[in-house]
Amino acid sequence: MRIQALGCSGGIAKGLRTSAMLVDGHILIDAGTGVGELPLEALRRIDHVFLTHAHLDHIAGLPLFVDSAQGRDGRPPVVVHARSETLDALQTHIFNDVIWPDFSRIQGPHGPLLAYRTLVPGQSVSVAGYTIGAINVAHTVPALGFWVSDGVHTFGFSGDTRTNDSLWPALNARAALDALVVEVSFPNEQRRLADAAGHYCPETLGADLQRLDHDPSIWVTAMKPGEEAVIFDQLRASVPRRRLALLHTGQMLSL
Ligand SMILES: [Zn+2]
Repeated sequence: MRIQALGCSGGIAKGLRTSAMLVDGHILIDAGTGVGELPLEALRRIDHVFLTHAHLDHIAGLPLFVDSAQGRDGRPPVVVHARSETLDALQTHIFNDVIWPDFSRIQGPHGPLLAYRTLVPGQSVSVAGYTIGAINVAHTVPALGFWVSDGVHTFGFSGDTRTNDSLWPALNARAALDALVVEVSFPNEQRRLADAAGHYCPETLGADLQRLDHDPSIWVTAMKPGEEAVIFDQLRASVPRRRLALLHTGQMLSL
Protein backbone atom coordinates (compact mmCIF):
# COMPACT_ATOMS: atom_id res chain seq x y z
CA MET A 1 0.00 0.00 0.00
CA ARG A 2 1.26 3.46 -0.92
CA ILE A 3 -0.14 6.46 0.90
CA GLN A 4 0.58 9.93 -0.42
CA ALA A 5 0.27 12.85 1.98
CA LEU A 6 -1.22 15.47 -0.33
CA GLY A 7 -1.85 17.70 2.65
CA CYS A 8 -0.97 17.27 6.32
CA SER A 9 -0.72 20.76 7.82
CA GLY A 10 -3.00 22.58 10.21
CA GLY A 11 -3.14 25.51 7.81
CA ILE A 12 -2.10 26.84 4.42
CA ALA A 13 0.88 28.80 3.14
CA LYS A 14 3.30 28.13 0.30
CA GLY A 15 4.19 24.44 0.58
CA LEU A 16 1.57 23.77 3.28
CA ARG A 17 -1.73 22.06 2.51
CA THR A 18 -4.51 20.72 4.73
CA SER A 19 -5.61 17.15 5.33
CA ALA A 20 -5.75 14.83 2.31
CA MET A 21 -4.22 11.34 2.10
CA LEU A 22 -4.35 9.35 -1.14
CA VAL A 23 -4.29 5.54 -0.87
CA ASP A 24 -2.92 3.78 -3.96
CA GLY A 25 -4.28 6.50 -6.21
CA HIS A 26 -7.96 5.57 -5.85
CA ILE A 27 -9.10 6.27 -2.29
CA LEU A 28 -8.89 9.67 -0.70
CA ILE A 29 -8.96 10.08 3.07
CA ASP A 30 -10.09 13.67 3.75
CA ALA A 31 -10.37 16.28 1.04
CA GLY A 32 -8.59 19.37 2.36
CA THR A 33 -6.63 21.78 0.20
CA GLY A 34 -4.02 19.08 -0.53
CA VAL A 35 -6.34 17.58 -3.16
CA GLY A 36 -5.33 20.41 -5.51
CA GLU A 37 -1.76 19.07 -5.57
CA LEU A 38 -2.78 16.24 -7.90
CA PRO A 39 -2.61 16.44 -11.70
CA LEU A 40 -6.03 16.40 -13.36
CA GLU A 41 -5.74 12.82 -14.61
CA ALA A 42 -4.85 11.61 -11.12
CA LEU A 43 -7.79 13.52 -9.64
CA ARG A 44 -10.10 11.75 -12.04
CA ARG A 45 -8.92 8.31 -10.89
CA ILE A 46 -10.24 8.87 -7.34
CA ASP A 47 -13.42 6.85 -6.86
CA HIS A 48 -13.97 7.04 -3.09
CA VAL A 49 -13.54 9.84 -0.56
CA PHE A 50 -13.66 9.07 3.18
CA LEU A 51 -14.15 12.16 5.33
CA THR A 52 -13.21 12.33 9.00
CA HIS A 53 -15.50 15.30 9.70
CA ALA A 54 -16.98 18.43 8.19
CA HIS A 55 -14.46 21.07 9.28
CA LEU A 56 -13.25 23.22 6.41
CA ASP A 57 -9.61 22.12 6.54
CA HIS A 58 -10.81 18.54 5.83
CA ILE A 59 -13.32 19.32 3.05
CA ALA A 60 -12.12 22.54 1.41
CA GLY A 61 -10.92 20.73 -1.70
CA LEU A 62 -14.01 18.55 -2.12
CA PRO A 63 -16.38 20.90 -4.03
CA LEU A 64 -13.80 21.84 -6.65
CA PHE A 65 -12.49 18.26 -6.84
CA VAL A 66 -15.97 16.93 -7.66
CA ASP A 67 -16.32 19.58 -10.36
CA SER A 68 -12.92 18.74 -11.86
CA ALA A 69 -13.70 15.00 -11.73
CA GLN A 70 -16.57 15.39 -14.23
CA GLY A 71 -14.38 14.10 -17.04
CA ARG A 72 -14.24 10.61 -15.46
CA ASP A 73 -15.00 8.77 -18.69
CA GLY A 74 -16.99 5.63 -17.97
CA ARG A 75 -16.42 5.78 -14.22
CA PRO A 76 -19.17 5.68 -11.60
CA PRO A 77 -19.99 8.69 -9.37
CA VAL A 78 -17.42 9.82 -6.84
CA VAL A 79 -18.66 8.29 -3.58
CA VAL A 80 -18.27 10.32 -0.38
CA HIS A 81 -18.28 8.14 2.74
CA ALA A 82 -18.77 9.86 6.11
CA ARG A 83 -20.92 9.76 9.20
CA SER A 84 -24.43 11.13 8.83
CA GLU A 85 -23.71 14.41 10.60
CA THR A 86 -20.87 15.15 8.18
CA LEU A 87 -22.99 14.32 5.13
CA ASP A 88 -25.83 16.48 6.47
CA ALA A 89 -23.42 19.40 6.92
CA LEU A 90 -22.09 19.01 3.37
CA GLN A 91 -25.55 18.89 1.85
CA THR A 92 -26.88 21.79 3.93
CA HIS A 93 -23.93 24.15 3.77
CA ILE A 94 -21.82 23.30 0.70
CA PHE A 95 -23.62 21.31 -2.01
CA ASN A 96 -26.81 23.34 -1.57
CA ASP A 97 -27.08 25.07 -4.97
CA VAL A 98 -26.01 28.32 -3.28
CA ILE A 99 -22.38 27.86 -2.27
CA TRP A 100 -21.89 25.09 -4.85
CA PRO A 101 -24.12 22.91 -7.05
CA ASP A 102 -25.78 19.82 -5.65
CA PHE A 103 -23.75 17.36 -7.72
CA SER A 104 -25.71 14.41 -6.38
CA ARG A 105 -28.63 15.65 -8.51
CA ILE A 106 -26.61 16.48 -11.63
CA GLN A 107 -26.49 13.65 -14.13
CA GLY A 108 -23.35 12.86 -16.06
CA PRO A 109 -23.28 10.29 -18.88
CA HIS A 110 -23.08 7.45 -16.32
CA GLY A 111 -25.39 8.71 -13.57
CA PRO A 112 -25.06 11.36 -10.85
CA LEU A 113 -21.65 12.96 -10.41
CA LEU A 114 -21.62 12.48 -6.64
CA ALA A 115 -23.06 9.86 -4.27
CA TYR A 116 -23.15 9.71 -0.48
CA ARG A 117 -22.71 6.67 1.76
CA THR A 118 -23.30 6.90 5.50
CA LEU A 119 -20.69 5.40 7.82
CA VAL A 120 -21.59 4.37 11.35
CA PRO A 121 -18.76 4.45 13.92
CA GLY A 122 -17.54 0.89 14.44
CA GLN A 123 -18.57 -0.12 10.92
CA SER A 124 -16.12 -1.35 8.31
CA VAL A 125 -16.73 -1.25 4.56
CA SER A 126 -15.02 -2.93 1.62
CA VAL A 127 -14.26 -0.85 -1.46
CA ALA A 128 -11.92 -1.58 -4.35
CA GLY A 129 -10.14 -4.40 -2.50
CA TYR A 130 -9.60 -2.43 0.71
CA THR A 131 -11.34 -2.66 4.04
CA ILE A 132 -11.84 0.62 5.83
CA GLY A 133 -12.99 0.83 9.42
CA ALA A 134 -14.68 3.91 10.93
CA ILE A 135 -13.68 4.77 14.50
CA ASN A 136 -15.48 7.27 16.71
CA VAL A 137 -13.11 9.98 17.98
CA ALA A 138 -13.61 13.03 20.23
CA HIS A 139 -13.63 16.39 18.44
CA THR A 140 -15.85 19.50 18.63
CA VAL A 141 -18.11 18.06 15.92
CA PRO A 142 -18.93 14.40 15.23
CA ALA A 143 -15.74 12.92 13.79
CA LEU A 144 -14.14 9.66 12.72
CA GLY A 145 -10.71 8.13 12.59
CA PHE A 146 -10.05 5.29 10.15
CA TRP A 147 -8.06 2.12 9.75
CA VAL A 148 -7.33 1.02 6.19
CA SER A 149 -6.27 -2.51 5.25
CA ASP A 150 -5.37 -4.03 1.89
CA GLY A 151 -5.34 -7.50 3.44
CA VAL A 152 -1.58 -7.38 3.96
CA HIS A 153 -0.84 -4.01 5.55
CA THR A 154 -2.87 -1.72 7.78
CA PHE A 155 -2.55 1.95 8.51
CA GLY A 156 -4.46 4.10 10.98
CA PHE A 157 -5.54 7.72 10.68
CA SER A 158 -6.74 9.71 13.67
CA GLY A 159 -8.43 12.63 11.95
CA ASP A 160 -8.96 15.45 14.46
CA THR A 161 -9.34 14.35 18.06
CA ARG A 162 -8.56 15.10 21.66
CA THR A 163 -7.88 12.33 24.17
CA ASN A 164 -10.47 9.59 23.79
CA ASP A 165 -11.25 6.01 24.76
CA SER A 166 -12.21 4.69 21.33
CA LEU A 167 -9.33 5.16 18.88
CA TRP A 168 -6.74 3.14 20.80
CA PRO A 169 -8.85 0.02 21.50
CA ALA A 170 -9.99 0.01 17.86
CA LEU A 171 -6.38 0.09 16.63
CA ASN A 172 -5.33 -2.52 19.19
CA ALA A 173 -8.06 -4.79 17.84
CA ARG A 174 -6.33 -4.97 14.42
CA ALA A 175 -3.99 -7.93 13.97
CA ALA A 176 -1.21 -5.50 13.00
CA LEU A 177 -0.69 -1.79 12.51
CA ASP A 178 2.15 -0.79 10.17
CA ALA A 179 1.74 2.98 10.22
CA LEU A 180 -0.25 5.53 12.17
CA VAL A 181 -0.91 9.07 10.97
CA VAL A 182 -1.97 11.03 14.02
CA GLU A 183 -2.75 14.65 14.69
CA VAL A 184 -1.04 16.81 17.27
CA SER A 185 -2.08 20.39 16.64
CA PHE A 186 -0.79 22.57 19.46
CA PRO A 187 2.33 22.74 21.68
CA ASN A 188 2.06 21.85 25.36
CA GLU A 189 1.92 25.53 26.29
CA GLN A 190 -1.49 25.67 24.59
CA ARG A 191 -2.91 22.52 26.16
CA ARG A 192 -6.08 24.27 27.37
CA LEU A 193 -6.76 25.55 23.86
CA ALA A 194 -6.04 22.10 22.42
CA ASP A 195 -8.48 20.46 24.86
CA ALA A 196 -11.17 23.06 24.15
CA ALA A 197 -10.70 22.79 20.37
CA GLY A 198 -10.76 18.97 20.42
CA HIS A 199 -7.12 18.43 19.52
CA TYR A 200 -4.08 16.67 20.91
CA CYS A 201 -1.00 18.41 22.24
CA PRO A 202 2.23 16.39 22.76
CA GLU A 203 1.42 15.77 26.45
CA THR A 204 -2.04 14.30 25.81
CA LEU A 205 -0.99 12.35 22.71
CA GLY A 206 2.07 11.01 24.52
CA ALA A 207 -0.16 9.73 27.33
CA ASP A 208 -2.58 8.09 24.90
CA LEU A 209 0.22 6.44 22.90
CA GLN A 210 1.02 4.46 26.06
CA ARG A 211 -2.26 2.65 25.37
CA LEU A 212 -1.27 1.53 21.87
CA ASP A 213 -0.17 -2.13 21.85
CA HIS A 214 1.35 -2.00 18.34
CA ASP A 215 4.65 -0.39 17.40
CA PRO A 216 3.87 1.31 14.07
CA SER A 217 5.75 4.04 12.27
CA ILE A 218 4.05 7.13 13.67
CA TRP A 219 3.66 10.13 11.39
CA VAL A 220 2.48 13.30 13.08
CA THR A 221 0.30 15.82 11.24
CA ALA A 222 -2.00 18.83 11.49
CA MET A 223 0.44 21.00 13.40
CA LYS A 224 -0.20 24.72 13.39
CA PRO A 225 2.05 26.34 10.76
CA GLY A 226 5.30 27.58 12.27
CA GLU A 227 4.96 25.39 15.40
CA GLU A 228 6.04 22.09 13.81
CA ALA A 229 9.54 21.81 15.31
CA VAL A 230 8.46 22.76 18.84
CA ILE A 231 5.52 20.35 18.83
CA PHE A 232 7.59 17.50 17.37
CA ASP A 233 10.40 17.93 19.92
CA GLN A 234 7.88 17.96 22.78
CA LEU A 235 6.25 14.76 21.51
CA ARG A 236 9.59 13.03 21.04
CA ALA A 237 10.49 13.88 24.63
CA SER A 238 7.23 12.39 25.93
CA VAL A 239 7.47 9.10 23.96
CA PRO A 240 11.20 8.54 23.35
CA ARG A 241 10.78 4.86 22.39
CA ARG A 242 8.19 5.37 19.66
CA ARG A 243 9.19 5.53 15.99
CA LEU A 244 8.15 9.12 15.27
CA ALA A 245 8.48 11.26 12.17
CA LEU A 246 7.05 14.50 10.90
CA LEU A 247 4.88 14.06 7.83
CA HIS A 248 5.57 16.48 4.97
CA THR A 249 3.33 17.60 2.14
CA GLY A 250 3.81 15.33 -0.86
CA GLN A 251 5.52 12.56 1.10
CA MET A 252 4.84 8.98 0.03
CA LEU A 253 4.51 6.27 2.67
CA SER A 254 5.10 2.73 1.40
CA LEU A 255 3.88 -0.12 3.59
ZN1 LIG B 1 -11.56 19.63 12.99
